[in-house]
Amino acid sequence: MDPVTTTLGAAGLALSAAASYLSPAAWKPLSIRQLGARCRSQRVLVLTYDDGPGPAVTTALLDLLREFDAPATFFVSGERVPLHRDVATKLVRQGHEVGCHGYHHLHAWKNWPGPLRDDFARGCAAAVTCGASDPISFRPPFGKLVFPTWLYSRHRGTRLAWWTHDSGDSFAELPARSPALDLLDEGGGVALLHDLDRSAPRNEFVLETTRALLEGAREKGLRVVRFRDLFEARDDASP
Ligand SMILES: [Zn+2]
Repeated sequence: MDPVTTTLGAAGLALSAAASYLSPAAWKPLSIRQLGARCRSQRVLVLTYDDGPGPAVTTALLDLLREFDAPATFFVSGERVPLHRDVATKLVRQGHEVGCHGYHHLHAWKNWPGPLRDDFARGCAAAVTCGASDPISFRPPFGKLVFPTWLYSRHRGTRLAWWTHDSGDSFAELPARSPALDLLDEGGGVALLHDLDRSAPRNEFVLETTRALLEGAREKGLRVVRFRDLFEARDDASP
């Protein structure tokens, strides 16, 4: 085989391998559209928090959620669970859902399948120690998903948990108004927030946005539910 044909063949092989590895990225927008439709048909707000627990923010959130008698979903970072086990175990005890967010927060596009699988399994095991029960909701770290992670997720029986509205709490510059508040006018959605302890302005932004979402949901007549409740209640409301 001549060198040009060999090079083209190798490039084609590399491209098809990359396409199959990254193919779940192509489904993500469709999955998010379906998730938004599900939320609007049920008229629900789902509050989700990633990367915690943080001893200060998570504890303050638990007080705030209790004030509104509202449940939320916490996608815990496996490596933080042993550091803040007292806070982590309060989550399920207080009626919230604990989901898997991996152990070391690996970026799926920058790691090999073996380490990704191990991190996924270890993260789910950490969530179980907090009281998480099957089917566990899984939020891919950085929102990045590759085919092997999707396969592990199917094999483990977890449910992929995207979001429809980013609160903006991790933007380089905090927004004056959280874009997640738009979901109130749209009739529902899944808000993405983070509950690891960061700078005082960011911690405050998370708490203020949560309060604004809860007050808005009350005003607009939206129910506040956990992520898993979207799929386990009201069969008549499924899109
Ligand atoms: Zn994260």
